[in-house]
Amino acid sequence: MSDYRIETKCVQGGYTPGNGEPRQIPIVQSTTFKYDTGEDMGKLFDLEASGYFYTRLQNPTNDYVAAKIAALEGGTAAMLTSSGQAANFFAMFNLASCGDHMVASSSIYGGTFNLISVTMAKMGIETTFVSPDCTDEELNAAFRPNTKLVFGETIANPALTVLDIEQFAKAAHAHGVPLIIDNTFATPVNCRPFEWGADIVTHSTTKYMDGHGVGVGGAIVDSGKFDWMAHADKFPGLCTPDESYHGITYAEKFGMAGAFITKCTAQLMRDFGSIQSPQNAFYLNLGLESLHVRMARHCENGQAVAEFLQQHPKVSHVSYCGLPGDKYHERAKKYLPNGSCGVVSFELKGGREAASVFMNSLRLAAIETHVADARTCCLNPASTTHRQMTDEQLKAAGVPAGLVRMSCGLESADDLIADIAQALEKV
Ligand SMILES: *Cc1c(COP(=O)(O)O)cnc(C)c1O
Repeated sequence: MSDYRIETKCVQGGYTPGNGEPRQIPIVQSTTFKYDTGEDMGKLFDLEASGYFYTRLQNPTNDYVAAKIAALEGGTAAMLTSSGQAANFFAMFNLASCGDHMVASSSIYGGTFNLISVTMAKMGIETTFVSPDCTDEELNAAFRPNTKLVFGETIANPALTVLDIEQFAKAAHAHGVPLIIDNTFATPVNCRPFEWGADIVTHSTTKYMDGHGVGVGGAIVDSGKFDWMAHADKFPGLCTPDESYHGITYAEKFGMAGAFITKCTAQLMRDFGSIQSPQNAFYLNLGLESLHVRMARHCENGQAVAEFLQQHPKVSHVSYCGLPGDKYHERAKKYLPNGSCGVVSFELKGGREAASVFMNSLRLAAIETHVADARTCCLNPASTTHRQMTDEQLKAAGVPAGLVRMSCGLESADDLIADIAQALEKV
């Protein structure tokens, strides 16, 4: 499968049925698996043999889908999680623990920002945030001797900033730590962060990968390129014996290709239990089968809507890296040559009031706390997610009161633009 193009991997990656076996991936709707002898099962518990014994740790349906996502990203191993939040938490907590430090881009998803700045801080893991547009000097200055990883998003939700992945990877590697990239908005169809030096990739599969608003889910993929043993002092969890598995040392037993995901499954999934249900993994796979076709259309619609909004007299600003004047246009040409995503954000001149009239007047686009599915939806942070803030506070947070985030779906671009035009007339 690794020789095929990404379109082929979307459709057929991860699962190759044998003679007379189901053409579509089977949903193994079973919590547990049967063995003939206790010794057979004991080997699984010791990680001496690979196989299934309890779905909290692994399930064949999930593994087919994880293998497809690994193939799409060009990684060596992957796992599914119950949500994107679980994926990001596991990816970071697999490396950092109490007393450790992380470096993260300040332009990231709000849920991840809370996870890092509040919950992981309570666990004793401190984080220094840096601008996605920082200089090398500023970036290097953020590291400490106890820094264990760097985190950022290819295209940030909702700010739509584009990360200089190579710059962040170089800095991470110069300090002996890996770069974790949340690739949710770009998807591997439009950007494969491993090709630019990232070491671990995460996804909220809830978004474009599912693509139909059907199931919440997440994924973690390992590039297999980070040499844990070369930095053994920083990563004792990977490079010293795990007493909860009879003294296995993950980096030795599973090598660079397998250590990260094996540890993450064996320890974090075992203890926190955030597994994706096999039924949801099946739905996710259906989404993945058309991801390459859908992403092209999401980008086409996003571009058309952004261009329409840009020339509209009631719109003061449009953020979309596909627009030639956008702050991230040049960077996007490098990292996202085939398009970015379908999410466009724009500011109405009339502020909060105008945004409210505009959104209430839309007929096709629905008001939703969601992005990246087949149906166009939009959100005004000032009247919903950021409701408690004053106009001044909103401005300072980079979310002005009149800002609308619109996730362009797969409908006709002409119909979307007509809908937007009639709603703008009401403003
Ligand atoms: C939605 C999202 C998440 C969180 O994912 P859930 O599946 O909602 O838990 C994380 N990162 C990004 C970039 C997202 O858009």
